[in-house]
Amino acid sequence: MRTDEQGLAYGGGWLDRAAGLRTDPGWIAARLTDRESVVLPLWRDRCLVSADRVLVRPAAVDAAELLAAADETIFLGLDAGRAVFAADLSGRPEREALALAGATEPVDVRALVGGLTPAEAAVQAYAKGLLHWHRGQRYCGGCGALTAAGDGGHTRSCTGADCGRLLFPRIEPAIIVLVEAPGEPERCLLARHRGAPEGSWSTLAGFVEVGESLEDAVRRELAEEAGVTVAEVSYQGSQAWPFPAGLMVGFRATAASMEVRVDGEEVVDARWFTRQELRARVADGRPLGRIDSIDHHLLGSWLDRAI
Ligand SMILES: [Zn+2]
Repeated sequence: MRTDEQGLAYGGGWLDRAAGLRTDPGWIAARLTDRESVVLPLWRDRCLVSADRVLVRPAAVDAAELLAAADETIFLGLDAGRAVFAADLSGRPEREALALAGATEPVDVRALVGGLTPAEAAVQAYAKGLLHWHRGQRYCGGCGALTAAGDGGHTRSCTGADCGRLLFPRIEPAIIVLVEAPGEPERCLLARHRGAPEGSWSTLAGFVEVGESLEDAVRRELAEEAGVTVAEVSYQGSQAWPFPAGLMVGFRATAASMEVRVDGEEVVDARWFTRQELRARVADGRPLGRIDSIDHHLLGSWLDRAI
């Protein structure tokens, strides 16, 4: 899988998001009739691909019928000066959406990621996350009136009288942490989560709660799920994870002691692994986490090599 320079899929800033142009409806309308502009159709959170599993990407001028049928059309940004739009066909039956897009199959971007360029994966994930947000914000949470998209699809505003509430796309941050043991030999803590296959071990993770810093969330999650107290917490990197609205923030932490006590709810087992044990697992063909995830990246960097 090709990834961005940090080794993490779905990020990389491949598009010029051109935020200053979003607020110009005339410019947006002109781009929708510009033969250089392209449209990425999506259907119920999935990419649309042709028979050879290539992403469908019609020119906007050829996609007039598709654009007219879309629930939402959003401006994603500029790709080498060409406007890129995402069009949501979720309101249509599958067969109709595929016909409109000239596609043969809807596929989740995470199932396709191994065959996509980093830019394709990132832009598809961005489109998926933003369209998902639109579908969940059709009504105002304050007065119940309909909302309408604005700013090229980067805001919604309430249409109710005397309300006008403005809504912005929501991102839900989560921490993910590789815990190291104190002292020698060097070991890291991996957990088996409820519902995960037997023998499937991963790093610990959880959503950040209101009123917490990222570091607070690391300490709380480790205490709650594994009974581990940590002394040091250090930032490692972040990953866009719009499935549907995540931002994964990766850390390493050093445990204050070797004691582990799992909660038995989310985490059913946790234990310490040496580098030798993990390398042996990889050599046996037992992967460490999803190849496109920051979990895989944190473990790979701890093993000091690509895995
Ligand atoms: Zn309202």
